[in-house]
Amino acid sequence: MNILDIHTHHLKENVSQYIYSCMPSAFSPREGGYYSVGIHPWNINSTTESEYECLKKIASHPQVIAIGEAGLDKMIPIDLSIQEEVFRWHIELSETLGKPLIIHSVRTSNEIIQLKKEFCPKSPWIIHGFRGKKELADQLTAQNIYLSFGEKYQESAIKSIPLNRLLLETDESEKEILLIYKSVAQIHSLTTEQLVTQVQQNISRLFFNR
Ligand SMILES: [Zn+2]
Repeated sequence: MNILDIHTHHLKENVSQYIYSCMPSAFSPREGGYYSVGIHPWNINSTTESEYECLKKIASHPQVIAIGEAGLDKMIPIDLSIQEEVFRWHIELSETLGKPLIIHSVRTSNEIIQLKKEFCPKSPWIIHGFRGKKELADQLTAQNIYLSFGEKYQESAIKSIPLNRLLLETDESEKEILLIYKSVAQIHSLTTEQLVTQVQQNISRLFFNR
């Protein structure tokens, strides 16, 4: 296992080093690559029934190692109750298949925490692109939620959370993932290699049950 980047929307070289996140109909697995598939809340209105059918079919593919991104977003003009219905569907899929859930959350941490308490999921939940402050990071990790940080983050949040809850990603950014490792390692007074080892242990545990 040599994944470094748990969430990107860009296809790159070294397919075994990242998890490519896409809409179900865009899933076209390359040899050695890893994928997460789901309906992003931004795409709910343009998603047809066949996209959900497709997701149900491909979600059990061995190269699909996570469900999502899916989630809740208070900054978009889609009714939160509709978003929640779609998100609950992803939660159930993630539980049925025992695959981690990659979550998009914008100003909806309370709702996510409520749902976590309601479902008590066995599959890990990962909030991706976390940019919140220390207090919120602490609240979420206290609920056993993992946080994935990208190019932009609050140093205090990174400093505060336990290293075994930490993941890193590039998302939409073109930035080299190792540069994110380098800056996060400095915050924890680690070498980049030490941080890579720690995060890869987290990835093995979460995505491969090892
Ligand atoms: Zn994303």
